[in-house]
This record gives sequence, C-alpha cells and structure tokens, in this order.
Amino acid sequence: MAYSYEAPVSQTLFDRASLVTPGGVNSPVRAFRAVGGTPRFMVSGTGPYLTDADGREYVDLVCSWGPMILGHAHPEVIAAVQDAVARGTSFGTPGEGEVALAEEIVARIEPVEQVRLVSSGTEATMSAIRLARGFTGRAKVVKFAGCYHGHVDALLAAAGSGVATFGLPDTPGVTGAQAGDTIVLPYNDLDAVRAAFAAQPGEIACVITEASPGNMGVVPPLDGFNAGLKEICAADGALYISDEVMTGFRTSKAGWYGIDGVRPDLMTFGKVMGGGFPAAAFGGRADVMAHLAPVGPVYQAGTLSGNPVATAAGLAQLRLLDDAAYAKVDAVSAELRSLVGEAFTKEGVAHTVSAASNMFSVFFTDEPVRDYEGAKKQEAFRFTAFFHSMLEQGVYLPPSAFESWFVSTAHDARAIEKIAAALPAAARAASEATA
Ligand code: PLP
Repeated sequence: MAYSYEAPVSQTLFDRASLVTPGGVNSPVRAFRAVGGTPRFMVSGTGPYLTDADGREYVDLVCSWGPMILGHAHPEVIAAVQDAVARGTSFGTPGEGEVALAEEIVARIEPVEQVRLVSSGTEATMSAIRLARGFTGRAKVVKFAGCYHGHVDALLAAAGSGVATFGLPDTPGVTGAQAGDTIVLPYNDLDAVRAAFAAQPGEIACVITEASPGNMGVVPPLDGFNAGLKEICAADGALYISDEVMTGFRTSKAGWYGIDGVRPDLMTFGKVMGGGFPAAAFGGRADVMAHLAPVGPVYQAGTLSGNPVATAAGLAQLRLLDDAAYAKVDAVSAELRSLVGEAFTKEGVAHTVSAASNMFSVFFTDEPVRDYEGAKKQEAFRFTAFFHSMLEQGVYLPPSAFESWFVSTAHDARAIEKIAAALPAAARAASEATA
C-alpha cells in the first residue's frame, strides 16, 4: 500500500533508530508493522494532542496506551513532578510519596488491603503469580487466549496485544518448563474453566484474567463470567487474580472492580496510576500479601520501586480523577463510539463498536466478538486503510486492529470535531479496502 503523505523527519529518526534498536522501537506495539508505513516520532503532547517531529498535530486516541487519562502535560501533574524532581530522583529508601500512593489505592479499591509498588505492569503480574504459587504451594496457572499480562514468560502463551497484532503463536525464548504449567483457555468460557479444574484438582495456583480484556480489541466479560471464575477458584483453593493494569483507575474510580464488584484475591495495576511514569502495583488480601518478603518467604524487589517522581505523578493524577472526571471520559467515549459507528454504517462497512466502560475498539465484523477466535475473524485489512486515512487527517489511532482506543478528560469539542471530520473519508477507505 502506498501512502500519499510523508513524514521525512520521523523517517530519518526511524532509520537511525533501526540501526541501533531492533525494529527501531522499544516496544513492538509502537511499530507500524501491522499497518505499514513509518512510525511517528512524537516530540510533545498537550491535552488531547500530540505533535510529531515533522510538526504535524494529531488528536491522540492512544493516550500512551492508557495512562494519559487527563491528557498530555496536565499542569497539576507537571507541577507535582517538578516539585518532586527538584528534591532528587531516587533515594533507595522508603519515602512518604509511596505511602500516600499506596493509601490512595487502598482507599479506592476495597479488596486491596495491602499493595506493593513496582515499576511496570509486567512486574506486577509476574510478582502476583509468584505470590499465588508461593501462597498455595501449587504450580499451575490458568490464563485466557487473547489476554495480555505483559511479557512474563509463563504468560506469553496465546497472548494479546503485540503478540496478537503480529500473529505470533508463541514466543521463542520461553522454554517448555517456563510455560509448561500455563493452561490457556478460551475467554468467556466457564465450562472450559470448570473442566480444567476438574482435570487437575488442587493443582492450580491461580486464574489470571484481564478484568475486562482490551488486548484482543475490547472484549468485555459476559455477565457472570468474572463471578464464575471467582467461585470456581474459591471452591478449589486457587486464587483469582484480576489484572487491572489497563482498566484500573480508568474504567471507574475503582477500575473494573467498581463496575462488576467481583472481589479478587489479588489485583494488578499500572498505566493510569503512574501518571505517565513507570509505576505499577499488585495487591489484595492481607493474608496473601503477608507471604511477601521481608515479612514472608516469597521474594520480590525493585531498585526503583516506589520512585519518588513516579509516585508524585501518579498521586497527582489519581487525586484529579474524581466522579466528574470519569463522567467526562465516559461522555467523550460515548460520543466517539456513536460517531464511529455512524460513519461505518453510512459506508456499509460491517463492524462492531465494542466497549467496556470508556475503553472501546472497532471489530470489522458484525458478528458479536466474545473471545480471541472471534476477534481474529474480523476483516483486519480494513483497519489498515482506516488507520492510514485517520493518520493522514491528523488522528492518531493504535496501529493495530487488536488494541483498545483510549480517550481523556482533555478531549474537548475541537478534538472531537477533528475526529468527526476525518471519519467519513476513513470509513470510505475501509469500505474500499481489499484483502
Ligand atoms: N496487563 C495488562 C492488562 C496490560 O494491558 C499490560 C500492558 O499493556 C500489561 C499487563 C503489562 O504492562 P507493562 O507494559 O507496563 O509491562
């Protein structure tokens, strides 16, 4: 596919990057491999906008893959960061900022009685699984196809996000021993979970699931699915781990837990709670968390865990996220979903706009999508045409048909108008696309 617009400065940077970094990117989802073309190198962000190295402005519907729920460079978050950074960037000792962030998390999310801060969502899920294994004395882990929990060895089986985008079945480098205790089941299928527990009673340490998946596109849990997982786990003595790295502090004040009320034994967080800095966490039942070092025997640590600048950014962002902020993000999302749906309908493009609270994505199929197999049946080639038309018109979407779109409180009328103006031509491009 040829692109009628150019990005010469991004191209030069990408050429330089490709010499020194595999694929020119530091995280595969940033590459444009699934859609073709040159990744845009961004130089600044303000509110709902990003500006690239060629000086082009985009309305941002990626929001750093979720964290920037207040938009870019929110003045109060920046002020908190400046204040923290002026006092030093890392001490390797406890500090008040990490206590305050932990208190904020515990206050918002009732099942989290204790929390440990880490630096990435990957570390959070990796540590939660280790803790579940240490607590139960069992080895096996259940995960669902299409769910992504970071690049933890044991969880890279049939994963979503970049693994889905690039159609990778599994990842070389993960040994049979590392993945051998991972049981991958179809999402939204409680019978499959019951069968797995019946086949190996007393052997499964935990079920880990995205609270509401956003890494195979947005595929919310069917009514009763999460509650069923919790019940099956409880009956067998396994732990129910809800991965809220993406949904946490985004889908509501208390994340997806605030929506479905199913009480996990352990939860994982990242993205929004770091305010754009590397901060993440895992937490839950105090009796389980008591197994962590230095109180208990399960080791877990981090030089930069609870970093003072990251915790200041995260705390400032969370404190700004009140009911009004969530109402705003929800309203922006609802308006965009209806604009996107109308544009495709007008062009006769088979589609489903799939939403979970304010997270949403488009599947190019009119069949309801309830699992990874369903997500893969969409006509993803239409997304490529749609994506490039939107990009050319100044709207930055995730460069993959298998990722959630994210909005922020900063998406104002001007930003929405710009998206609305771009949609008709992009929907036409999707309708005219060929496989
Ligand atoms: N869990 C979920 C649900 C995610 O969406 C992600 C990242 O997208 C992760 C875990 C991993 O987080 P990180 O990229 O911070 O390691």
